Amino acid sequence: MGEYDILIVGAGPAGSAAAIQIANRNPDLARRTLLIEKAVFPRPKLCGGGVTTHADALLAKLRVQLDVPSFPIHAIKFMFEDLRFTVRIPNVFRVVRREEFDAQLAQHARARGVELREGEALVDLEREDAGVNVRTTLGTYHAQVVIGADGANSVVRTKLGLARWDRIARLIEILTPADATRAPEFVEHTAVFDFTPVTRGAQGYYWDFPSFKQGVPMMNRGLGDTRVHPYFPRASLKPIFEEMLAQREVELDDAHLQGHPERWFDASAKHSAPRVLLAGDAAGAEPLFGEGISHALDFGMRAADEALRALARGDFSFTDYERRVAWSALGRRLQFKRALAHIAYGDRGRWFYRLGWQVLRAMFGK
Ligand SMILES: Cc1cc2nc3c(=O)[nH]c(=O)nc-3n(C[C@H](O)[C@H](O)[C@H](O)COP(=O)(O)OP(=O)(O)OC[C@H]3O[C@@H](n4cnc5c(N)ncnc54)[C@H](O)[C@@H]3O)c2cc1C
Repeated sequence: MGEYDILIVGAGPAGSAAAIQIANRNPDLARRTLLIEKAVFPRPKLCGGGVTTHADALLAKLRVQLDVPSFPIHAIKFMFEDLRFTVRIPNVFRVVRREEFDAQLAQHARARGVELREGEALVDLEREDAGVNVRTTLGTYHAQVVIGADGANSVVRTKLGLARWDRIARLIEILTPADATRAPEFVEHTAVFDFTPVTRGAQGYYWDFPSFKQGVPMMNRGLGDTRVHPYFPRASLKPIFEEMLAQREVELDDAHLQGHPERWFDASAKHSAPRVLLAGDAAGAEPLFGEGISHALDFGMRAADEALRALARGDFSFTDYERRVAWSALGRRLQFKRALAHIAYGDRGRWFYRLGWQVLRAMFGK
């Protein structure tokens, strides 16, 4: 049985950020930290790939420079039915391919001394007074602390008995070929957020993100249904997506349609148990725009600090984790966006959205 101080489950942005933070703070401890990842890099990850300036600031804090191709966005076009306005902010975010981004981030963790085992999935964990016994598809380990950074379908969360159906958003996505010399989104470096789906019962928006996949221009198109009002009727996403695509003269190719859940953050929920912390999507992301990469990085760094504090003090109860997260800048940002999502996706009638639109356009638009 392998013996580690910290075992991190999942090498997405949250898990890799946690590993890098541990290595930066305590290089010796990095050698006693194991990062296991179910997939083998470069692994596919369904995502719009929008990396915000906030995410870049967190990467800088981790002293990580990722040399991956990205497409800079300088304008966001907000749409609602026939209404539209554009907000111009140079480099407001950039669009990456997650398979490249995540693979490089995980390599940074490895380069700083953390052992990274790919193709190894957590199967079970058992907490005891002296640590956590972890069973994976390839072996068994004992660790002082486990950080569950294994995404929205977190096995760690399920094993702790903390899974909740009513905090799960649904997202679908497709990549379609694009002409980068003519499509305005490419020429003008513009991302589109279309909120028309709220009138069809979806609690979210449709997006168009210009991107390149292996040098080939592709439009990343998707639709999210946050379900921040879990008891409202569930919208049927596929017909809404088809309608949004048809408005852009794109036909839905079923074979390439993919979906993935996202968990939204609830400050009143548990994200820990003695000796186990959750981070990133396993804990929760923001439901307003579904921007999860920066929050996952932030969450991972905070979980790492929490684990280091526990090891230093010999207190692994983590009774304060939820409160500390809730009151941190991360927690306040997540809660603020959740409150806005509650208002924005509340089935309020067309007049509400059209009026709100005029106000927002007057404040921010051109
Ligand atoms: C369609 C879609 C579009 C999105 N677009 C954006 C966007 O444009 N910008 C943005 O900021 N966010 C976006 N997000 C959200 C973002 O993708 C997530 O918030 C982010 O990936 C969370 O990072 P994470 O590290 O917590 O989890 P993940 O990135 O999901 O990583 C979890 C890792 O854990 C591994 N794993 C899972 N189970 C196990 C196991 N049992 N054992 C070991 N390893 C395991 C997985 O293989 C994975 O590598 C989008 C999400 C979706 C679904």
